[in-house]
Amino acid sequence: MRTHPIVVVGGGVIGLMTARALARHGHEVVVFERGALGREASWAAGGILSPLYPWRYPDAVTRLSQASQAVYPELCKGLEEATGIDPEWEPSGLWCLGEGERDHATAWAARFGVRLEVDAGGEWGPGLWLPDVAQVRPPRLLRALRGQLQNLPVTIREEACVEGLRWQRGVLTGLVVNGEEVAASRLVVAAGPWSAPLLARYGLPLPVTPVKGQMILIQAPRGALKTMVLKEGRYLVPRRDGSVLVGSTQETQGFDKTLTEEARVALRASALALWPALEPFPVTHQWAGLRPSSPEGVPFIGEHPEIRGCFVNTGHFRNGIVLAPASAELAADLVLCEDPGCDPAPYAPDRSLGGGSAVSVVK
Ligand SMILES: Cc1cc2nc3c(=O)[nH]c(=O)nc-3n(C[C@H](O)[C@H](O)[C@H](O)COP(=O)(O)OP(=O)(O)OC[C@H]3O[C@@H](n4cnc5c(N)ncnc54)[C@H](O)[C@@H]3O)c2cc1C
Repeated sequence: MRTHPIVVVGGGVIGLMTARALARHGHEVVVFERGALGREASWAAGGILSPLYPWRYPDAVTRLSQASQAVYPELCKGLEEATGIDPEWEPSGLWCLGEGERDHATAWAARFGVRLEVDAGGEWGPGLWLPDVAQVRPPRLLRALRGQLQNLPVTIREEACVEGLRWQRGVLTGLVVNGEEVAASRLVVAAGPWSAPLLARYGLPLPVTPVKGQMILIQAPRGALKTMVLKEGRYLVPRRDGSVLVGSTQETQGFDKTLTEEARVALRASALALWPALEPFPVTHQWAGLRPSSPEGVPFIGEHPEIRGCFVNTGHFRNGIVLAPASAELAADLVLCEDPGCDPAPYAPDRSLGGGSAVSVVK
């Protein structure tokens, strides 16, 4: 009997990594992307491969982050070999400036075996140095992922909006794509903040909402800034070509992505306060993306409690790039009924409903 391909809804970093993980387990996959692949939050991200202030997050985030950080160097090497596109994985290290949180941060680092140094104040003033934090360039990562998927049993369909799901007696039977019925027995919703309105119609009210982030790029000379620097929530990320990315705002205005002069001015002011040497250089770009927020930043990864075959992988909030590889592996293991090698309970899609509680599927 021929089985249907596994469907992934959404072509951001989470959807593409999930498709990759499923295909590498030997399964046929089809990705439906409403617009163009990788043009939403995944494209807009800074690409820092660590949560900012990682000690502030629950262990459920740290575990995924550490597992992903461990595979990123090989992952990027493999992507470059397969596609010729270099995602620019760079272990540039991260300075967290300020005097607070030292005890908490050092205890966290010791518990998870993370290298962290307390510095009384060198070039940057007092702070914490995380030498192993790396970065990637998200647009390059996405293009390389797309290229690699073309060599795997993955079909990518752009301009293909998933409008609804079909199920019978608690089992997924298909979906509606651009008005057409498509048969499916397994799918993974990885539609970023749009996952919530989609799944709410099928009895799963995920607390995932869009949080707009604006960023700017300042064109500095190559090699001027060598490390990533973070202070009071604002950060600088130096790219290989010298440009310095400055992030980011956190705004809650629904699905609006309008760029504002106010954010541009505020981000530039933060950048100059952090590193006055940027003063003579121009702001060359400004952009925005919508983070899929979730309580405490813990993503939802697992099966719909009432529709067998309907899985979720979303809610990565500020950390979707770093969490993507491990989240994708976990999602693939759950879809394929394989041992995930960790307890998936902290990520259960119905955890905010009390787990296993009655959710009502309305048609
Ligand atoms: C300014 C900013 C900076 C960030 N910096 C970092 C960072 O440094 N490090 C880090 O780890 N993370 C960072 N993030 C967070 C990260 O970008 C997100 O967590 C991550 O991109 C979420 O990926 P996603 O695939 O879930 O969502 P998205 O990238 O939004 O992808 C979802 C896709 O689903 C598609 N879609 C939606 N509805 C449907 C439908 N019905 N049918 C078909 N397709 C659909 C959308 O078109 C979209 O392409 C940042 C985010 C922002 C905005």
